Amino acid sequence: MKEYDILVVGASTTGCWFARQMASQGFSVLVIEKEEPENVSRAYDIFHMTQGEMEQCDLDIPDDTSPLKAFSFFGSPMWSPYGNHPKGSISSTPTIGLHKHDYIMFMADKAKENGAEFIYGASFIDFIFDKNRQIAGAKFETADGEQCVYTKLVADCSGIPSAARTKLPASSIAGNFKLTNKDLLYVVLYYVEYKDKSFNPREADGFFLQYKSWSAPSGNPNGAILGIGAALSYSYAEYIFENHFTKNVHFPEYTVEKIEKGVTPYHRSVYSFVDNGFIAMGDAACLTKPTCGEGCTSSLVQGKIAVEVIADLLKNGKPLTKENMWSINTRYMKEQGKDFDSLRPLLMGVIAPDYDEAEYMFANEVIFCQKILGNVDGGFELNAKDIAAIVKNACVGVIKKKIKPSSIAKIVRGLKESAMIGAHYDKYPENPADFPMWRAKADELWSKCRTVAGTCDKEIIKKLNLE
Ligand SMILES: Cc1cc2nc3c(=O)[nH]c(=O)nc-3n(C[C@H](O)[C@H](O)[C@H](O)COP(=O)(O)OP(=O)(O)OC[C@H]3O[C@@H](n4cnc5c(N)ncnc54)[C@H](O)[C@@H]3O)c2cc1C
Repeated sequence: MKEYDILVVGASTTGCWFARQMASQGFSVLVIEKEEPENVSRAYDIFHMTQGEMEQCDLDIPDDTSPLKAFSFFGSPMWSPYGNHPKGSISSTPTIGLHKHDYIMFMADKAKENGAEFIYGASFIDFIFDKNRQIAGAKFETADGEQCVYTKLVADCSGIPSAARTKLPASSIAGNFKLTNKDLLYVVLYYVEYKDKSFNPREADGFFLQYKSWSAPSGNPNGAILGIGAALSYSYAEYIFENHFTKNVHFPEYTVEKIEKGVTPYHRSVYSFVDNGFIAMGDAACLTKPTCGEGCTSSLVQGKIAVEVIADLLKNGKPLTKENMWSINTRYMKEQGKDFDSLRPLLMGVIAPDYDEAEYMFANEVIFCQKILGNVDGGFELNAKDIAAIVKNACVGVIKKKIKPSSIAKIVRGLKESAMIGAHYDKYPENPADFPMWRAKADELWSKCRTVAGTCDKEIIKKLNLE
């Protein structure tokens, strides 16, 4: 049986990136991918990453002449529900639109050039355990039958199915839960072309938080991608698109050129990425951005830490145990995990007001204010004066009966839950021995938080037979 330092399960963005990073340092890497090369990542064509994020993640930036690159553009605003109040969002570096399948095949070639081996049409089946019940390798299925490899580490980069993580024993600290339709955003992309050629589609680009919808470039100068995401099902997303978003926001007349669909995780990150001989990465570890569900670069924040820690251990001949790899967890939680996961409950509060209330709030600088939405690169810092102004504007809205007290209560609940999660993540344990207690408390806190599926409209759920 063949032996490798690392077995990577899944050859999409995360798997190819990790394989290249490790192989370029001289480690032996095998990547198995269940699809044949021509079928990898075909659900949707265009994906975006900002140039700044690509640089931070050591991702190659194709030049304007490359067929991998579709286009580039600068940040776009956040819109109020009826499209009357854009709040500026200025990005200093462009966002780059790439053809996803082609870019992934390019990433795979780079990993191969650095020595990684790839087997396509190879589906992970299960781990191989040694006599001490520790991971020693994996079994996978190919057209030629079942094959086995020995490895020091199995890196699960298989996306939403989490093919390896879900096969971990129930006792594993990495958590073997499966993602359900309540933990996913079902995304529908409408590639549209506007009939009026004098209309500049870029003027309508931006994000419409209340519908989880957006308008973004598609590569067609007269067109756009009108996208929408929703928990539970594509039908729920389509319903909101047809009956709410495009009814309330008046886009000029268009024809739909094509429709693409895909799913992305909308779930807190796994509590521990590592176990003995194992790491979960990318969508398999739920590392997508809480604001939009994008995950190609956000997952590489954890990826970069993992590369550093694992390479160091392998170079020093140390085993890849959960204790030795624990700093991947602690460093990630500090760098990004706490911010991402504490934002989730807050967002559930922020999307609670109805469309009329939210329109008023955009117009009158309540939560949806320039200070918060104005600068996507710099983040935001609110001083006491800013907070006082938001609270005062909210009170005026309640007195004028433009905002319901119950909506304010939901926002406050979101703020409280966010603060509780943040405070608990600040106490992330320094070693695996203290982890079970931390996890029990984390489970308790999350069980009280609102979820994206929990914010879905009960009437629509009934109408669409989603119960
Ligand atoms: C419509 C849509 C648009 C999006 N747009 C963006 C965007 O613009 N920017 C952005 O950053 N993110 C975007 N995302 C999110 C992004 O697609 C994911 O976060 C990202 O693809 C995750 O990469 P991954 O490598 O972790 O997993 P995946 O891309 O899901 O890849 C997993 C791979 O593992 C393989 N696999 C699965 N099971 C097995 C098995 N048993 N054995 C072997 N291989 C297996 C799969 O075939 C697949 O190739 C979008 C998502 C959707 C749905």
